[in-house]
Amino acid sequence: MITRFAPSPTGPLHLGHAYSALLAHDMARAAGGTFLLRIDDLDQSRARAEWEDLIYEDLHWLGLTWDGPVRRQSDHFDEYRTALDSLAQHGAVYPCCCSRADIAAAASAPQEGVPEFGPDGRIYPGTCRGRAYADRKPSDALRYDLSKTVGPPARMPAFDETGPAHAGRHDVTAEHLLTKVGDPVLARPGMAASYHFSVILDDAAQGVTHVIRGEDLFEATFLQRFLQWKLGLPPPIYHHHRLIRDDQGKRLAKRDDARAIRTYRDDGASAQDVRRIVGL
Ligand code: GLU
Repeated sequence: MITRFAPSPTGPLHLGHAYSALLAHDMARAAGGTFLLRIDDLDQSRARAEWEDLIYEDLHWLGLTWDGPVRRQSDHFDEYRTALDSLAQHGAVYPCCCSRADIAAAASAPQEGVPEFGPDGRIYPGTCRGRAYADRKPSDALRYDLSKTVGPPARMPAFDETGPAHAGRHDVTAEHLLTKVGDPVLARPGMAASYHFSVILDDAAQGVTHVIRGEDLFEATFLQRFLQWKLGLPPPIYHHHRLIRDDQGKRLAKRDDARAIRTYRDDGASAQDVRRIVGL
């Protein structure tokens, strides 16, 4: 078993991150497996060295050790670009110049039962679908045209989930992708890859066998599994865990400093206290 914790160095880690990291660590250790750390610093405009340093401090304080060197996404931008070029050979990647406002204006009026937003933001209405990859400009995003390559059910991928809320095998169907996800962004202007595209390449490069992460990313897994399949990458098993919420029941956010691990540390709590608070 190879698990990983993959925080973005864009703010302090909070109790939700602690839960994710502890769970991925404990599951690997219990199985005699490997626990890896990855720094998801894809977005260089938001990543900061001081947040990365704080990640190491917080994890050490929690008593976590990881195996092998830390992988940093910023060291692998060329690999993302190469993978994107190779995916584009299949003819389904196209440049897109739509702003958020353009997409909102072009999206069809909301219909009952049809979601407006998916795990990659507002479901893209397909405005730029006719454009050729070769005609891309530096100011364009790159999207994947789902309508071109989704196939009959027998030829679509699936993934195994072991998390409490959705345990079982999940088929990735064309209908699901087209209605609940929409053409995903693979790279934004000035960035080597999008989150969805980079994360599947990183997990494959690190040989991750079990992706353990928050329940909020369950819907994104359908998209990520589809892209993995298109690239011929091996699928990990997924385990989406419950989210740690604040007293109002809201999911914790990076700006929620009250629940930052650093705050507990500064207040004299112990790593055992944090384990108890998150229910481990
Ligand atoms: N860097 C991502 C995050 O912090 C990782 C998500 C994932 O585990 O796939 O949300």
